[in-house]
Amino acid sequence: MREDQNTPDVKLSTLGKPLPVHVGMSKMKKKISSETLFGLKQKHDFSETVIDSIAAACRKDLGRSGVQSNSSSNIKEWSHSLDSFYSVEKIDFVVKERVGTKYVTRTVTKDLVYVNDVTALVFHICGMRKIDPVDALVRVGIDGGGGSLKLIMNIFVPETTESQKVKDTGVKKVIYIAAVKDIPESHHNMSILFEKTHLNDLKFHIASDLKLLNIILGISAHGGKHSCLYCNGTVDTPGELRTFGDLSKCYNEYKENGYKNMKQFDNIIKPCLLKEPQEKLVLDVIPPPELHLLMKIVTVCSLLLCNGALVSEWFKKNGISFHGYNGGGLDGRNSNKVLKKLSDLNIFVTENCPEYLPVVGLLFKFEQVVFACFGMNLVDGYQLTIEEFSNELKFATVYVEKNLNSNLRFGWKGHILLHHVQPFLDHTQTSLGVYSEQCSEAVHCNFKKTYQRYASNEDDEDHGIKLKKAVSSYSSMRI
Ligand SMILES: [Zn+2]
Repeated sequence: MREDQNTPDVKLSTLGKPLPVHVGMSKMKKKISSETLFGLKQKHDFSETVIDSIAAACRKDLGRSGVQSNSSSNIKEWSHSLDSFYSVEKIDFVVKERVGTKYVTRTVTKDLVYVNDVTALVFHICGMRKIDPVDALVRVGIDGGGGSLKLIMNIFVPETTESQKVKDTGVKKVIYIAAVKDIPESHHNMSILFEKTHLNDLKFHIASDLKLLNIILGISAHGGKHSCLYCNGTVDTPGELRTFGDLSKCYNEYKENGYKNMKQFDNIIKPCLLKEPQEKLVLDVIPPPELHLLMKIVTVCSLLLCNGALVSEWFKKNGISFHGYNGGGLDGRNSNKVLKKLSDLNIFVTENCPEYLPVVGLLFKFEQVVFACFGMNLVDGYQLTIEEFSNELKFATVYVEKNLNSNLRFGWKGHILLHHVQPFLDHTQTSLGVYSEQCSEAVHCNFKKTYQRYASNEDDEDHGIKLKKAVSSYSSMRI
């Protein structure tokens, strides 16, 4: 039908038949599309009821045709497009409890939501995002914080993420692989998650904290003599790089020895949960966790600086807060704040308590490491930043012990930064930010709003179904 009946058609002469042309402005009415409404739902994490009510309000002002007619059903379908990939099942997990002076283990039955075939889900998402699966990097985040044990993933092509409006590397593009409430991070519990999701069928990089990484590899906790996930050295002296073959050999020998004297077997006490070729290095599969390295270095230096009452006051005035009580650490956001305000801190310390300047000097060197090695792009000369940090650390360590009656110890994180970051970067030529574990940390908070819409008591019969809906809906909104 013609849009404007008042303007005439004219005939344009051509080499052949005259061409009729309609003159005048089209009065085709614009309408709010389902995509626009879905975009709002994604951005603000609105429920379907809220988005239906926004559509109804728009129809009231714009007329029925002002909003695409099938919007409600389109949005419902898109919001649950991944439902078929998820299952829910009651599974027995193991928890450890303290009874008197002893720890006892007991079994608890929990609802586990998981993806049956994670490889199929990766291919599906690549298809939806128009990414060639061959170019895609799958980063699997593993985390036990925020009241649940979860596996999540980000799928992205490293070179393109910088230019994207919503980055595939970010928390807005997180897809759940598995989730279970209130379960401790343990080898047994993690093995169930790996088995159920067939995670080993997939080629991926892990992003997690050091505690969970050791659990997955079968290495004892960090109090052990050889607790580095990458080598069999000690905290002060690096050893030989571990291969997956070394992990299984040491575990078998430890088992044959009756599970005694773990340090003789490089602290390998459980079978490794990752299935990788025997000759492959752990360092090739698990990138150094940059967020935890960042938090450790900045926290240790900041706590030392805050021994000075005036500097402590400066931290408070600048809105930099430690979590917990005395001795608590800085989270990623507060650690970055310290690095951003280093020049101001330097002026303050120079004027008020110059005895702390070498610690600020060390933070300056660390900031250069972060700039060159922790972002999304590896910066030329990154090797030099690590070397300069290492030299500054030697000087600052001696100075702090002698003059401040304290110490600068970064434990296994310092060991990893000094001995394993550069070989990893040399080999991959990819900056650590690409593999960052930041999303796993951010996801508890981000998931909360969606979860609250479906939350129910764990004893309720439909708890599992609701948890599955929350996980599937959260992931469907992030394709
Ligand atoms: Zn090591």
